[in-house]
Amino acid sequence: MTYEFSDRIQRVEPSATLAISNLAAEKEAEGADIVDLSVGEPDFPTPENIVEAGKDALDAGHTGYTSSNGIPPLKEAIAEKLRGNGIDAAADEVIVTPGGKQALYETVQTVVDDGDEVVLLDPAWVSYEAMVKLAGGDLTRVDLAPHDFQLEPALDELGEAVSDDTELLVVNSPSNPTGAVFSDDALEGVRDLAVEHDIAVISDEIYERITYGEDPTSLASLDGMADRTITINGFSKAFSMTGWRLGYLHATEEFIGEAGKLHSHSVSCATNFVQHAGVEALENTDAAVTEMRDAFAERRDLLVDLLADHGVDVAVPDGAFYMMLPVDDDDQAWCEEAIEQAHVACVPGSAFNADGYARISYAASEERLREAIERLVDADLL
Ligand code: PMP
Ligand code: GLU
Repeated sequence: MTYEFSDRIQRVEPSATLAISNLAAEKEAEGADIVDLSVGEPDFPTPENIVEAGKDALDAGHTGYTSSNGIPPLKEAIAEKLRGNGIDAAADEVIVTPGGKQALYETVQTVVDDGDEVVLLDPAWVSYEAMVKLAGGDLTRVDLAPHDFQLEPALDELGEAVSDDTELLVVNSPSNPTGAVFSDDALEGVRDLAVEHDIAVISDEIYERITYGEDPTSLASLDGMADRTITINGFSKAFSMTGWRLGYLHATEEFIGEAGKLHSHSVSCATNFVQHAGVEALENTDAAVTEMRDAFAERRDLLVDLLADHGVDVAVPDGAFYMMLPVDDDDQAWCEEAIEQAHVACVPGSAFNADGYARISYAASEERLREAIERLVDADLL
């Protein structure tokens, strides 16, 4: 038959980050040696204690549905973790989701109607735009690229972009794709605008454990933000658990009641035994998290130095494991050449509304990072 696909689904493209990593995987399957710096995925195994907790949970028979919003010990562990961030959180204000992506999706669906205005800070992670379009929202974008990807110098522009008609603002610090960590002054500026115009704010804090300077501030901990912030987090990045699919959202109980409807009608619940492993991750994995963070910090320094050796200056990231490399205006063509000629996979900046850049994920070994730069230089791409 010829399907009449929904307008909704035709508004969006497949995830560009996943598309490039699929292409890299295809080329590898054909025998090419690709240095894959595309997808944002830690290259460490999940820490052993978490794996053991998952196995123990399977052996103990935790294989059925759980209550929709999550098992009580995990919701309590998450609330306690958030209290450590200065957020006055309770277990009933949490929904445990299969990945932070689902938490974001549920949040956007819960607040955005057709024609509602949503403000993004560019460069912005690919899926925010898609999620807003799926919900029928209209995007207003504020470009942080001219400000070395920092928010503080762009607060005036943000102030001009938002109005009483703005429904939702998305803040992601540390940022994917730039690695920028927004200052407290920047976050207070966001707070002032959100309160003035009565705007809901998503604070996507999925990279909060991967920072190289001061610990980042949680937006919901600021005065005036508790009842208008939806805090998103997940286990993929901090605990190297991408394939386990575990994340969460925290918001007011009223919000949880509404978002919980979508959660119960779509995913039912996050995977039972994975939730048990999540408790272990939150409670007993600090040393492994720090070790991975330190490894990312060394790789960041190495990459910045290698690029500097070839005369390339980058905005040095303070968090996550991404870096924006300035490339040709046609970043799509540059990335195609990088994968075809140099066998190095990066994501075109245009996927994040940052034309003229390529995103490098440095969640790869130092040896592979050196190899990538050498190959890009040999192919005259640097
Ligand atoms: N937010 C950001 C900014 C991300 O980069 C990702 C990466 N996948 C996610 C949310 C969602 O991650 P996950 O679904 O694996 O928890
Ligand atoms: N967030 C990661 C990235 O940006 C994983 C892929 C995705 O979910 O987009 O590469």
